[in-house]
Amino acid sequence: MWAVVAVAARSFAAGQFWGERRRVALFSPVEWARARSAFSFEVLARLPGGGGRAGLITTPHGQIRTPAFIPVGTAAAVKGATPEQMAALGAQALLANAYHLYLRPGPAVVEEAGGLGAFMNWPGPTFTDSGGFQVLSLGAGFKKVLAMDTAGLADDQVIAKGSERLATVDDDGVTFRSHLDGSRHRFTPEVSMRVQHQLGADIIFAFDECTTLMNTRPYQERSLARTQAWAERCLAEHARLTALSPARPYQALFGVVQGAQFEDLRRRGARDLAGLELAGGGFDGYGIGGALEKENLATIVGWVCSELPEARPRHLLGISEVGDLFAAVAAGADTFDCVAPARSARHGAIYSADGRYNVTRAAHARDFGPLDADCDCYTCQSYSRAYLHHLLRARELLGYTLATIHNERFIVRLVDSMRAAIESGGDAFARLRDGFLNRYSGG
Ligand SMILES: [Zn+2]
Repeated sequence: MWAVVAVAARSFAAGQFWGERRRVALFSPVEWARARSAFSFEVLARLPGGGGRAGLITTPHGQIRTPAFIPVGTAAAVKGATPEQMAALGAQALLANAYHLYLRPGPAVVEEAGGLGAFMNWPGPTFTDSGGFQVLSLGAGFKKVLAMDTAGLADDQVIAKGSERLATVDDDGVTFRSHLDGSRHRFTPEVSMRVQHQLGADIIFAFDECTTLMNTRPYQERSLARTQAWAERCLAEHARLTALSPARPYQALFGVVQGAQFEDLRRRGARDLAGLELAGGGFDGYGIGGALEKENLATIVGWVCSELPEARPRHLLGISEVGDLFAAVAAGADTFDCVAPARSARHGAIYSADGRYNVTRAAHARDFGPLDADCDCYTCQSYSRAYLHHLLRARELLGYTLATIHNERFIVRLVDSMRAAIESGGDAFARLRDGFLNRYSGG
């Protein structure tokens, strides 16, 4: 498929009539540019002396002011919160998981509903991830490794040991077993693109191999080459699918930079993705994925962002720790997603300006103040720590909802405040960061 499309693209570039166009249904460069114009990104302000910026992403379903935190609704729902509640707490967009929706209810159902946004009654912008991370993590059963201690570890087998292996990667794709019923499935770059086109989110991601920090350097090199080849196949399939359904809202495709903790691999990965062009267009934006050592997060994001085009948005996958958010924004990342605010909320772990605490602890049984005195969310305006303590200990569903509203609002508002600080200019961002982190860490 890729070879045919690549030849086709070159024919166009040479200004020749291309006889095979109808067969693979590619747009002409003019049609392609018109389709892609439904998605745009503008840099509106920059951090003095750094890579950080504030900007505006425009999608067919609305705009996202960046930096922005994008809450996750894994299975087309933010657990415990309605779309109206998510909009009220300031969420500008929602991100769902292609892997989960592929297994249940199946992409055809979402497509028939009119796409992800229509299906879940969210009128704003939507994202889906490619399924790569879930295929490898849920399928293979290894845990997310953003901040793991890897001292002395270097073993490709940690991904899946012997008979427990539920996902196997080859150069063409990944075969895996469903975490729901054990049934066998196969994802390739083309399958991921077809699934994500059926789901219909505004921003979709190329299918990549997500490695861990424990993979050996030779494995990381092979994996990066594979992710690059898959990126090219995703672009080709994305172009074909876009042209097949010209009446549909344009879906922006983000390439995903891997390369773990290695500077040369991260830079090469970013450069190679940035260099991809097809029929007049490369990726609409970029994801930064995979294993990131917490202490090197800003450095790694900085390497990648310095290689990527300034005029395209960058999404850092799976980040919501407050220190990480400040570091990544300063280094040039524009959007972020993470399940942690909602997941923590369901376990009673509550964010506050004075740090994270667990509201289910006995100390809060008679604490009639709000979850966070500085918070403007619905929960903090009307409910007490004692009430949340009671609800969560009694496993009342309302407890999950109220705690989720607060935690999501806390992170959304924090990133909004970073954007406002960048827009104010001067040292406003540095002052916000220093003041916030000092108080948050109990200083
Ligand atoms: Zn609150």
